[in-house]
Amino acid sequence: MKLQIIKDLLQIFYPQLCLICEDILLQNEPFVCLFCRYDLPVLFFKDSTNNEIIRKFYGRIPLEEANTLLTFHKEGKVKELIHALKYNGNENIGIFLGNWTGELLTENKQFTGVDFIVPVPLHTKKLKKRGYNQLTKFGERLSSYLKKPLKENILLKVDPTKTQTFKQRFERFEDNELKFSIQDTRIFANKHILLIDDVLTTGATLEACSKELQKTSNIKISILTMSLTR
Ligand SMILES: [Zn+2]
Repeated sequence: MKLQIIKDLLQIFYPQLCLICEDILLQNEPFVCLFCRYDLPVLFFKDSTNNEIIRKFYGRIPLEEANTLLTFHKEGKVKELIHALKYNGNENIGIFLGNWTGELLTENKQFTGVDFIVPVPLHTKKLKKRGYNQLTKFGERLSSYLKKPLKENILLKVDPTKTQTFKQRFERFEDNELKFSIQDTRIFANKHILLIDDVLTTGATLEACSKELQKTSNIKISILTMSLTR
């Protein structure tokens, strides 16, 4: 009872604001107000083994299952939300989206066969600058719902310019963003990996990560993202 009074007082002096519209949140509204939440375009597929994402990767990467939470439009609230998560230090948006996705996965029993959750890594320079990987909190919440460990620091993003000759660097300039490296090929052997990312657009990043993961023997890969561009 006393704790509630303190919480109410704190709310008066330091109100929690909606991460999207910045209106004052009511007590039963964690992170995002109900109005904004109902306005977010939920996409979550009922079938995780045969859907738009699986088809997107046909002939590129064989996926076990795939899903996403929201539709990402060029302009809109999902874009604002992900932008705030990545560039405005709003790390808790990952908790909000992770809890939401986790609840839906609990209902659908999807991804129950995965062994590890692996986020698309950031280059250490970017990680230092941002202070966090925007997928860590999301991954931690998913880990809690799926009861499977989050494995960071096995799949890493590397700086390809360091290992390339000048000629290669010049020729392969466009791929520079997409070099990943797996630190230990034994940990994921015979395992099912759930690769997570924020926005799925062309799938080039997830494809590059998957190709690197496939250096591990008998690995299975599934994909789950916060949003899918349409
Ligand atoms: Zn709002």
